[in-house]
Order: sequence, then C-alpha cells, then structure tokens
Amino acid sequence: MSQALWCDATEHPFSARDAERQRISITVFDDNGQEVLEARDFCGPCAKAAGLVKPKQGRYDALKTRILERQAGIMTDDEDTRV
Ligand SMILES: [Zn+2]
Repeated sequence: MSQALWCDATEHPFSARDAERQRISITVFDDNGQEVLEARDFCGPCAKAAGLVKPKQGRYDALKTRILERQAGIMTDDEDTRV
C-alpha cells in the first residue's frame, strides 16, 4: 500500500513512491529566539523547481573534480592542448 506525503512547497499531497522527493531541514526560531530544526518535504516537481535536485551523479562528480583541481592549482590539459 502506498503512502501519501504532504508537499510543504506548494501544499499538496503526493506519493511516498516519488523517487525524486526531497526532505530538507531548516532552522527556524521560536518565540524565545531558540533555534528549532524542522523538516520539510518537497515532491519531485517542486524540488526540481526549487533547484534542490542535483544533476546526474556522474556529471556532478566530473564537475566537482575539475573545481577541486582548479582550487589546488592543478592544470588540466583541456586549455593548453586546444587546437
Ligand atoms: Zn509539490
């Protein structure tokens, strides 16, 4: 039996089987100014609209590797060997 979750982004129910759903944690402040951690559920389409869905894992890793190489001062050959 499938379960229904509540999308906190635009206030509507959605299936718990939505593979792209996201749960985010946010910090809010109560009346005493104390930090309170709350969870919010986003359905797949709302998570995508909010920019919460990462690009495909492989592409993301390649991008991350390149950024780390640049930060470390490692020159990759893609600029020097361009014809
Ligand atoms: Zn939604």
